[in-house]
Amino acid sequence: VELPIHEAVLGRAAAFGDTPALIDGTDGTTLSYEQLDRFHRRVAAGLADAGVRKGDVLALHSPNTVAFPTAFYAATRAGASVTTVHPLATPEEFAKQLTDSAARWIITVSPLLEAARRAAELAGGVAEIFVCDSAPGHRSLIDMLASTAPEPHVAVDPAEDVAALPYSSGTTGVPKGVMLTHRQIATNLAQLEPAVPTGPGERILAVLPLFHIYGLTALMNAPLRMGATVVVLPRFDLETFLAAIQNHRITGLYVAPPIVLALAKHPLVEQYDLSSLRYVMSAAAPLDARLAAACSERLGLPPVAQAYGMTELSPGTHVVPLDAMHHAPPGTVGRLIAGTEMRIVSLDDPHKDLGTGEPGEILIRGPQVMKGYLGRPDATAEMIDTDGWLHTGDVGHTDADGWLFVVDRVKELIKYKGFQVAPAELEAVLLTHPGIADAAVVGTYNEDGNEVPHAFVVRQPTATALTENETMLYVAERVAPYKRVRRVTFVAGVPRAASGKILRRELRGLTSTATATTATTP
Ligand code: ATP
Ligand code: MG
Repeated sequence: VELPIHEAVLGRAAAFGDTPALIDGTDGTTLSYEQLDRFHRRVAAGLADAGVRKGDVLALHSPNTVAFPTAFYAATRAGASVTTVHPLATPEEFAKQLTDSAARWIITVSPLLEAARRAAELAGGVAEIFVCDSAPGHRSLIDMLASTAPEPHVAVDPAEDVAALPYSSGTTGVPKGVMLTHRQIATNLAQLEPAVPTGPGERILAVLPLFHIYGLTALMNAPLRMGATVVVLPRFDLETFLAAIQNHRITGLYVAPPIVLALAKHPLVEQYDLSSLRYVMSAAAPLDARLAAACSERLGLPPVAQAYGMTELSPGTHVVPLDAMHHAPPGTVGRLIAGTEMRIVSLDDPHKDLGTGEPGEILIRGPQVMKGYLGRPDATAEMIDTDGWLHTGDVGHTDADGWLFVVDRVKELIKYKGFQVAPAELEAVLLTHPGIADAAVVGTYNEDGNEVPHAFVVRQPTATALTENETMLYVAERVAPYKRVRRVTFVAGVPRAASGKILRRELRGLTSTATATTATTP
């Protein structure tokens, strides 16, 4: 049976009854499954009554709150495609997304209302701004709960109609609107579910943003479909995060590598009782096996499991099944999920398939491959070839048992004197240094125009004496000569996207400023 996403996810919500669906991790506000089911239907009626029609684009602009899923599923039930917006987007960035997606409606929260108003003004074309909570002069979702309008019955074509229009992270360029149909999202949920089963009694902590496809899937659609409880936090703050795990007896964590780093290295971790945790899953960026091991050993947990995907893949293709956490090889991002094909092809010749152990570009074909980039047929054709293979832009290899290892992005590989160096590998080596709190590596150009690995390093507060040369030496002792870090810049922090990815573009910009100290070796 083919269902629209709100039915695929909430089909059993009424049956889960009083089980808490969502809990606000800061003030304890709770929404039961029965309420989630009833509320999203009433809000759908309110939205339809306000004029929301099938095919309209609605921008959902909110941090993680207990109301977020109600707003999302109400909008799709009313027939809209939901484009999720970064809650901290500037009015200009928000306006770009409104214009690009031709959004007619906005749902925001009162603390972000000014930014939403300004964005709507800049973009034009927005018919109305609704708020989740309440604000003078705006219809709110709370008002809509009392709506007596009839529930809309919109005919959805799951194979064609776009349910979600998330924007890619913009790590490698401008964020692109990714058209994901009801079928693509629902199929991917069903594909991932056997690997990461969950259900009533399980408590998932939603600290990664729900507006990003990873959070939307792992922290909203998947747990709510299975009857688990989602505890939401509006932003990442280590103490609040640790306290929420302890106080809400969280059983499962879906995080990105920077949080694994904090769990492995930060002194605060020891002050909390994290014994309710049963597993930690990481995705969105490369995670080094040593760092993963340091995290799981410290917490007394099975090895950190990984998943791999991208916005364009609805988003998943690989995952380490929870029942395989113990025997999956260290560093793997998982095994290919059912109903999906993968090829690994040569970086020099995309027609040449590579064998086991040989790194090349990962190509994916399957029912979860996006419909396309909104309004960008050229970019879509560049990404998905005529045989339906999506070119991920990521480099990886598999072992004899089919476990996938992601090396890095093709575009991030540093070409040093004809050799290819993966920044993720050097970052992993740097993070093993006890005096290094965080690190990022990019290719920058030295005086003679050659690209060299350049490390941006955050020192531990206790290691202010660590020098550039010591840092370079540390890496040189651990990697082949062509991979050596040739420049080091000490910085106060590594810039990252909300999904946890290193913003290498911003680091390249830093090289020309005087705020950081840099040293170079030839
Ligand atoms: P943009 O496409 O706009 O430049 P982005 O690629 O960062 O941004 P996302 O769709 O959020 O946007 O991220 C997908 C990418 O994240 C993948 O292509 C891959 O590079 C990376 N990624 C995801 N999971 C993993 C993982 N487990 N290990 C390594 N990299 C991962
Ligand atoms: Mg991408």
